[in-house]
Amino acid sequence: MTFSKGYGQNFLINESVPGRIAAHCGAEKDDGILEIGPGIGTLTSELAERYAAVVAVEIDGRLLPILGETLGRYDNVTVIHGDILKTPLAEIAEKYFPGREITVCANLPYYITSPILMYLLESGVQFRAVTVMVQKEVARRLIAAPGTPDYGALTASVNRYGTAERLFDVSSGSFLPAPKVDSAVVRIVPYREKPYSVNSERTLGRVIRGGFAQRRKNLANSLSSEFREIKKEDLIRLLSGLGFGAGVRGEELGIKEFALVSDAIDGFTNGERT
Ligand code: SAM
Repeated sequence: MTFSKGYGQNFLINESVPGRIAAHCGAEKDDGILEIGPGIGTLTSELAERYAAVVAVEIDGRLLPILGETLGRYDNVTVIHGDILKTPLAEIAEKYFPGREITVCANLPYYITSPILMYLLESGVQFRAVTVMVQKEVARRLIAAPGTPDYGALTASVNRYGTAERLFDVSSGSFLPAPKVDSAVVRIVPYREKPYSVNSERTLGRVIRGGFAQRRKNLANSLSSEFREIKKEDLIRLLSGLGFGAGVRGEELGIKEFALVSDAIDGFTNGERT
């Protein structure tokens, strides 16, 4: 079988890594585990050994017979042939993991890391943890603090749903074929209770997108490219009402501050001019 670059296939060949990821994914013994892209099943079998039930979604149909062999001895594994981005997660949760907490554990295909993370976090399914191997550079962005160079729209978008921590690094030589860059395992713990509240999630999404649209510009300028319906001087006034000076940039704001900006913009557009 040839590897499919298009599907981001870099299989783990370092024998100790899959066990380490499975052991540290943050799941409890009785959890249901959702794996994305089982490949030839190296991480999957480690998950099946440790946890109650595993559902693994694999897009590449050529891998299914191989998975049938490598995972055949486990009666707690279900392999689903499909694209994770088209898989109805709430239905999977209800069908395969009734009454269980669910943890995601995966060595993600690198070409769609961010879309997969957002799809999981926006699904409405309450995961105990989302533990994923990603490129090191993405790991840095996921765990970055406001005001640091790696902090950006991806960090803030993930922080809408939870907090991320880096568990450990994995060298590129641990994969076949070896990718150009090293990887890291990151665990996102979704909030049980959000540390902020907003009137409109849609506006918050726009504020985050706008806040990072023009990183070099101050927040009012950057936001004005997203909120064309609001005059720049009104944006400046709104921000100053929240205590943000003229020089503040989007990359300095944490999720709670973005939520404040979001509500102020909503209040303004709804006519409560401040
Ligand atoms: N878990 C295996 C391992 O660690 O060796 C393989 C990881 S490999 C980096 C990514 C896997 O995700 C591949 O098996 C690939 O075919 C699969 N994949 C890529 N895009 C996918 C998608 N949209 N939905 C489900 N699986 C996908």
